[in-house]
Amino acid sequence: MSSLAAVPAGPAKQARGGAPADRVRIAIVGSGFAGLGLAIRLKQAGIEDFVMLERAADVGGTWQANTYPGCQCDVPSHLYSFSFAPNPGWTRTYSRQPEIWDYLRGLADRHDLHPHIRLGHELTGASWDDDEQRWHVHTSRGDWSAQILVDATGPLSHPKLPAIRGLRRFEGKVFHSAEWDHDHDLTGERVAVIGTGASAIQFVPRIAGRVGKLHVFQRTAPWILPHTDRPTTRLERRLYKALPLAQKAVRAGVYAAREFFLLGYIKDRRFATGAERVAKAHLRRQVPDAALRAKLRPHFRLGCKRILLSNDWYPALMRPNVELVTDEISHVHGRTIVLADGSEREVDTIILGTGFHVTDPPTARLVRGRDGRTIAQASQAGIQAYRGATLAGLPNLFKLIGPNTGLGHNSMIYMIEAQLNYVIDALRVMDEGDIATFEIRPEALAAYNAKIQSKMPGTVWMSGCSSWYLDANGNNTTIWPDFTFRFRHHTRRFDVGAYALRRSADVPRTAVAA
Ligand SMILES: Cc1cc2nc3c(=O)[nH]c(=O)nc-3n(C[C@H](O)[C@H](O)[C@H](O)COP(=O)(O)OP(=O)(O)OC[C@H]3O[C@@H](n4cnc5c(N)ncnc54)[C@H](O)[C@@H]3O)c2cc1C
Repeated sequence: MSSLAAVPAGPAKQARGGAPADRVRIAIVGSGFAGLGLAIRLKQAGIEDFVMLERAADVGGTWQANTYPGCQCDVPSHLYSFSFAPNPGWTRTYSRQPEIWDYLRGLADRHDLHPHIRLGHELTGASWDDDEQRWHVHTSRGDWSAQILVDATGPLSHPKLPAIRGLRRFEGKVFHSAEWDHDHDLTGERVAVIGTGASAIQFVPRIAGRVGKLHVFQRTAPWILPHTDRPTTRLERRLYKALPLAQKAVRAGVYAAREFFLLGYIKDRRFATGAERVAKAHLRRQVPDAALRAKLRPHFRLGCKRILLSNDWYPALMRPNVELVTDEISHVHGRTIVLADGSEREVDTIILGTGFHVTDPPTARLVRGRDGRTIAQASQAGIQAYRGATLAGLPNLFKLIGPNTGLGHNSMIYMIEAQLNYVIDALRVMDEGDIATFEIRPEALAAYNAKIQSKMPGTVWMSGCSSWYLDANGNNTTIWPDFTFRFRHHTRRFDVGAYALRRSADVPRTAVAA
């Protein structure tokens, strides 16, 4: 690997376990779309001095972890993929998990990323050393010293378990949808599914015909739109291969249509009424039973929570062996789920479709900034990041898909690519200016965040539903409340003026060599 560009290299500092820490310019944590995308862009920029630390046994992030039956993307694949790595061969318009995972593994192979990847390396802590102006990065299998730390651990990578009394002592089998136990045979079993979000609506139809009895526990009925997924034709695949411009045009069309959808979220509810009408008609058409339909009717504005796509969710709930339970769960006892009204459901397996720690990820408790506080401690009033990427008190750290970069209407890959532009430009600025350290100025971050939050009132996300977009204080620290092309525009260049910079010459050499 090449040596540091900006900070003079020195002997490695002793790591926690006693072994010397490996020195790299950049340590990326996570190998999902964001981590892999950055690694590709680094190599394209001629930067080889980086390592990618991944806790899992393979790359792919979301698409490596979520192997549940029916897992697929809900943004068309031509857009839910990198613009710099189009795949003319998608076999469906909305690809399924195995194909997306293959795509990501293929990228790691094609771009020769494996020499940089350390699988089975879970980040256990990282702290900024103000003397050395470097990060000390600790993993389950070794330590690194890095000039720059990139947190690409993903917003949806830490499964959330519901706070149900007795669940941990359940005497049957329990697993989360993101940790599907494929060795466990559900055939003929009595199964409970807790949650009716994006994952549950995909796997429930796949298991409903296999299990003996299925109890689906719903807290809030989601909005469901008809799915337009279909296999791609051979002609389409040939066309896109021969004529990449045609695929680009489709991608642009999908992108523009999705951006238009935002108007109903931020501007005027009337833009969303068409979609609400379609969803209501979908429910009416698919569920003739009025009592069941009433339970499935959403009681919040479309878009306040993630909109879901499915043609087989409602039919699955109408199967004779499936029960939709809308009463609150009181507790779990032995193999029994006890409801608030005292009724009981005895089950063999509980599958948790209960989402992820989005606004309170465990990694926020692992990373310590200049003042020794963790990200979680420093952001109790609500996490903020300039351009969704750089945080106060955390020099030389980029968070990919950080606060207020999430979307309800478009592809996260578009946002990831925008942030990759920002990181690559920051590295260019550092190299050209011989800059060792950057740190977002608190006043620049406060102004940026105030602007974002000023856009929230009146949007659909603040219209009263309870969603994972909101943090414990009720702030929307998750969603980008504007058109995505604006985010792309703002991230095309590193905003030098918003940062406090330190030149390499000002970093004491003795400190580096300590
Ligand atoms: C089932 C599912 C379907 C989705 N469908 C869509 C969709 O259709 N469209 C869309 O736009 N978005 C979708 N998303 C959101 C999706 O997460 C993002 O689109 C994107 O994949 C995020 O990529 P990422 O690299 O930021 O994070 P991830 O893909 O989550 O990657 C993060 C990586 O970090 C690793 N990691 C985490 N903690 C540590 C640690 N302590 N040490 C080391 N490694 C660690 C994880 O193992 C993982 O590999 C979906 C999410 C899920 C869960």
